[in-house]
Parts: sequence; C-alpha cells; structure tokens
Amino acid sequence: MYLCDYHMHSHNSTDGQNSVMELCQRAVELGLKEVAITDHFEPVKGNEGYKQYNPKWYFIDVLKARVVFKYTLKIKLGIELGQPHLYSKYSIKLIEEYPYDYVLGSAHNLPGDVDLGTIDYSNADIKYYSKEYLRQLKKLAQWNQFDCIGHLDLPKRYAAVYGISISLMEYYEDVEEVLKILIRNGKGIEINTSGLRQHSKACLPSLDIVKLFKDLGGEVLTVGSDAHRADEVGEGIQEGIELAKAAGFKYITVFNNRKPEWKDNQYLNLK
Ligand SMILES: [Zn+2]
Ligand SMILES: [Zn+2]
Repeated sequence: MYLCDYHMHSHNSTDGQNSVMELCQRAVELGLKEVAITDHFEPVKGNEGYKQYNPKWYFIDVLKARVVFKYTLKIKLGIELGQPHLYSKYSIKLIEEYPYDYVLGSAHNLPGDVDLGTIDYSNADIKYYSKEYLRQLKKLAQWNQFDCIGHLDLPKRYAAVYGISISLMEYYEDVEEVLKILIRNGKGIEINTSGLRQHSKACLPSLDIVKLFKDLGGEVLTVGSDAHRADEVGEGIQEGIELAKAAGFKYITVFNNRKPEWKDNQYLNLK
C-alpha cells in the first residue's frame, strides 16, 4: 500500500520536537513512501512576519533529507499557514517567494489572536465559538491561496479535553457552504489523524464531514498525522485511509509543486 503522511512538524516549528532528518528516518522505518513536512507559519499581531519560522533553514533541512533518503522516501516541501486570511500579505509573500509543493491553510486562532486551544470550553458558549470558527473557515476558503484546509473541525480537538463533544454538523448549512467554496475552487481537505491519539479519539474532521465533502463533489483529500515528534509520524494513517474509503473515496491526493495528483485505488490497494 502506498502510505503517505501529509502533515508533520519538525523543529522548524516552535512546537516540533525532532529534526526533518529524524522525521524522515521514522517514516522510512514505518514503510511510508511519501511525506510532506508542514511546519508552522503562525503570525500574530505585532509579529506578522513570524520570525520564528525561517524558510531558508527549513528548505536546507528538506533538501539535505532528500539527498539522504533519495531512494526510499519522497519528501515534499510543505507549510501550514495559520489563519492566513487574517495575515494575507505576509502569507502570500512567503508562498510566492518559496517553491512549496503543498500548502495547508488552517484556522487556529479567531480574530484578535484568540487561540482556539486556550479557551475554557467548560464555561464557553459552544454555539458562539462553533459559529465563529465556521465564519473564519468561510473566509479562509474564500482566501483560496492554499491547497487543503487543515483539521477542519478543530474545536472538537480542544473541547474534548474538557469532556465536551462538538459536532460542527449541528451547523450543517455553514459547513456545506465552506465545502462548496472549496470544491468550486478545486481545493481540498485533509483527514488529520491526531485526534485519534488525543482526547476526541476521532479524526479531524469526522466521517460525516468527509462524506458530505465527497457527496458534494470534493476530490482533493490528503491524510496526515500532525506529528510533532518522530514517534508520532504515520500514526493513524491506516485509520485515516479507512475513513476516506468509508466516505466513498477511492484514492488519496498527493502534491507536486502545488499540483494535485491522485493515487488510484489499485495503487492504494483499496477495493
Ligand atoms: Zn494545525
Ligand atoms: Zn499541524
């Protein structure tokens, strides 16, 4: 089976624990064929240029790893842009200046740099935050300068820490609107398997949203572990592929130079 992991962070991200080389070594040990290293560009007000991320160091790391793993692993140049629709000028400058293969667009923060991961969900107005998050996703989708949206039902990840389950499908029309914009623009979503090893014990997004994406005509779908350590690389990828199959997909998407390619069902050994 052609296994690829399209979401992981090296120590080029402030929260990444291992080098690009170590992530790739782990991927090879697991028998993965392809990875995208998607380090964070996560600007906040006052640090719009986000000095913590140095694209030159990142590119050098990946190009070195490509030499070492030339015959064993395809290593794609990726990036995860945090709320790029709110920091558009800086985000566009970065992806125009550097030749990434794959760009993830994620909404981690609400306007005003409210980090979805720091909200006390036990005392929060869940409906307000869910609707506000979906409003941001719509703006992100309209911004359209990415390839896939990352972990589409992110509030689920953080609310689960408080034992609270959030299903964005309660706001079906908002979810549908976001997905339709993506599909119209030829853009995709990812199945982020990090939730399987966290409190929610489910991929992000869940099957209902992936299935709706498929039913509406969505074609671009990646799978990624969102590993922040080498020992998390590849975690849940098989389950992610099973979820894709359950939603009706017969392939997984990979990217070269920002262009999607579809690995067909024979290639993936899907039936
Ligand atoms: Zn993220
Ligand atoms: Zn990530």
